Amino acid sequence: MINILNYINGEFQPALGGSWLPNHEPATGAVYSQLPDSQAADVEAAIAAAEQAFPEWSTLPAAERGAIMERVANLLESRLEEFARAESRDQGKPVALARRMDIPRAVDNFRFFATAVKHWSSEAHVTDQSAINYTLRQPLGVVGCISPWNLPLYLFTWKIAPALAAGNTLVAKPSEITPMTAFLFSELCREAGMPPGVLNIVHGLGASIGNTLNVHPTVKAISFTGGTLTGATIARQAAPLFKKLSLELGGKNPTLIFADADYELALSTAVRSAFTNQGEICLCGSRIFVERSIYERFRDDFVARVAALKVGDPEDESSDLGAIASEQHFNKVMGYIQLAQEEGGRILTGGTAVKSEGRCAGGWFIRPTVIEGLANSCRTNQEEIFGPVVTLQPFDTEEEALAMANDTQYGLAAGVWTSNLSRTHRLGAQLKFGIVWVNCWLLRDLRTPFGGHKASGVGREGGWEALRFFTEPTNVCVKI
Ligand code: NAD
Repeated sequence: MINILNYINGEFQPALGGSWLPNHEPATGAVYSQLPDSQAADVEAAIAAAEQAFPEWSTLPAAERGAIMERVANLLESRLEEFARAESRDQGKPVALARRMDIPRAVDNFRFFATAVKHWSSEAHVTDQSAINYTLRQPLGVVGCISPWNLPLYLFTWKIAPALAAGNTLVAKPSEITPMTAFLFSELCREAGMPPGVLNIVHGLGASIGNTLNVHPTVKAISFTGGTLTGATIARQAAPLFKKLSLELGGKNPTLIFADADYELALSTAVRSAFTNQGEICLCGSRIFVERSIYERFRDDFVARVAALKVGDPEDESSDLGAIASEQHFNKVMGYIQLAQEEGGRILTGGTAVKSEGRCAGGWFIRPTVIEGLANSCRTNQEEIFGPVVTLQPFDTEEEALAMANDTQYGLAAGVWTSNLSRTHRLGAQLKFGIVWVNCWLLRDLRTPFGGHKASGVGREGGWEALRFFTEPTNVCVKI
């Protein structure tokens, strides 16, 4: 049994109250480690440590902060295989995916912001001949970073890297469902020489930690990635204290496939965008709209490709999909498959749990599932399932496709497949989503604004947007 520990003021420690939470391996369903069941006192200790560390860290030259962060990135890269295996075991994703995507991206996140901060500058505004205004951007102080279970280290580092680079000190809270790689990461930070108290990692349940972190007057900002309902709770708690809030929330992303698209590329990418990471990526395309003239051909080819995907042990290099991250989430996804049938949907492939033998007999596996015959307005097409379940719907005109795509409370990401350049720009402007991918998916440039419209979030991460979020601007107006 591995004991995951809090990392507070440079020290590893269990929860002050001494309680633990079980941590499961999704592929087997078995408990393989435990994490601290932290409470208010642990969060208070982490905030105090961060507050104490702030004056020194915030005044360290940006290049020195960046150098420490680059050392962290190098250490992580040198232990990539170990972290990929740990992520796969903790989350359920195929180890090949963690090796190819999650851990390299975590390395990139740290490298990107370690160097970005050295190139950052603030604005100056000359007012006619009479005054010069310059914008001072100073770190906020102690900030809270809260991350989800689907891309554990990838999203954890995506938040903490800009916060650290900008000179803040942190209380970070990884998901209680996938705490392992954040714990291993804290060891790297210590080894890289990050001063005690700069990054504090507190493990435990959302509300146990959030009820202190969200309302603590010392915490100046909360950067949160997770579900829309949790985001609303955090906003309700934090707003009266006027904390800065960055909320990256849920999605129900459309993929629009026009008859003039590169058929093979659209088909293979639609499969990938639907089922990568068991469909547990906020950017996965789960509502696939296909122009009617190619609908039947596309449906049959799509179903054949999906049926051929291998669901199995995440340790098996040939598995395309691994296990669902938790038993609770497994039950939620299976519940939606049931609902889809009650709503009149036809299951074209999948729709059942996978029963394995041997090591994975107790694991939480679901076959990739494709459903057709549902109206866009039904719950299956409106609520976020966040698993290996997609629906297919035909459309006749671009206007109809656009209307159905936008007909959702969410607005995170949309995909468009077409060779019509004018259509590309028309839809780019009219799709109410924070990201519109044209003839591609998950092609990420870390400098671009990342975030959602509507119920998918408030604020943007990435590039300068993230560094702006983690600083407070002061306009200094000097009369000439
Ligand atoms: P969640 O909202 O249940 O939990 C996210 C994190 O918030 C966890 O660390 C959790 O412990 C914590 N938390 C829970 N209650 C809290 C509270 N009251 N105060 C403070 N923290 C609290 O989400 P999840 O199930 O872990 O993740 C899945 C969701 O995340 C999906 O909706 C998905 O779309 C979304 N997501 C969004 C993005 C994005 O960039 N927009 C990226 C990944 C995941």
